[in-house]
Amino acid sequence: MRIELAEHAGYCYGVERALKLARQAARAYPKPIYTLGPIIHNPQVVKSLEEQGIYPASNLNEIRKGTMIIRSHGVDPQIITGAEKKGIHIVDATCPFVKKAQQRASKLVREGYELVIVGERDHPEVIGILAHAGGKALVAEKLSDLESLKGKKKIGVVVQTTQPEENLKLVVGELLTRATEIKVFNTICDATIKRQAVARELAKRVDIMLIVGGKNSANTSRLAQICRQTNPQTHHIETAKELNPAWFETNSHVGVTAGASTPDWILREVVDRLSQISQ
Ligand code: SF4
Repeated sequence: MRIELAEHAGYCYGVERALKLARQAARAYPKPIYTLGPIIHNPQVVKSLEEQGIYPASNLNEIRKGTMIIRSHGVDPQIITGAEKKGIHIVDATCPFVKKAQQRASKLVREGYELVIVGERDHPEVIGILAHAGGKALVAEKLSDLESLKGKKKIGVVVQTTQPEENLKLVVGELLTRATEIKVFNTICDATIKRQAVARELAKRVDIMLIVGGKNSANTSRLAQICRQTNPQTHHIETAKELNPAWFETNSHVGVTAGASTPDWILREVVDRLSQISQ
């Protein structure tokens, strides 16, 4: 078996930064320490943070005192105001690239553009961007979501940082027929663009493609989706335990990549297990 690990696999800048800020908070700030929602979409990392005294809370009502860490996805600014009123210490670990998308969205609305956010309606990052736009935006998951936008003068567009570029291109192409002026900010982050491009190229060349990362991680699931388009033998696994030796023939060429929220140690365990299987 030949194992090829993709470049740009695993933690991105924003996730590493959020985890560093969380660990610093656990040492320096008032306890208990909470993250609003799991700090990253990876159950193994969330469990290890709990062991260090950092707990996920599902909403602000569950936090009475201590410190609240805003994760890299960002939040509705009203949540920060609400926490401040309760005297909760805040550590804002919103990824700077997500912040840029929030600022662009808010500015477009202030300048009178009908705002379109390309992304997943229920994803926390999109919910946060929408809130920064004062709720005045249409979220486009698919082209049919644009039906209500007809004969508009000015349409502004931002995009969830982890969306595939194809989705943005499709939406913008459709909007050209629906407005006289379109202002587009491509807020997809560089790490996502590189990771998806490398994974797509690797999936084309290998017999089997493995995507490692949380099943609840949108960016990991999207990587699996992208790879499956060119390689139907794509498996999305969370840990090495899910590897099934029956997937691999003796001479298989196996590609491996991982989502932005997958720690190095999980990726290493997968590669080690693959080496064992190949012996
Ligand atoms: S994927 Fe990009 S935008 Fe999202 S946290 Fe990572 S670096 Fe930031």
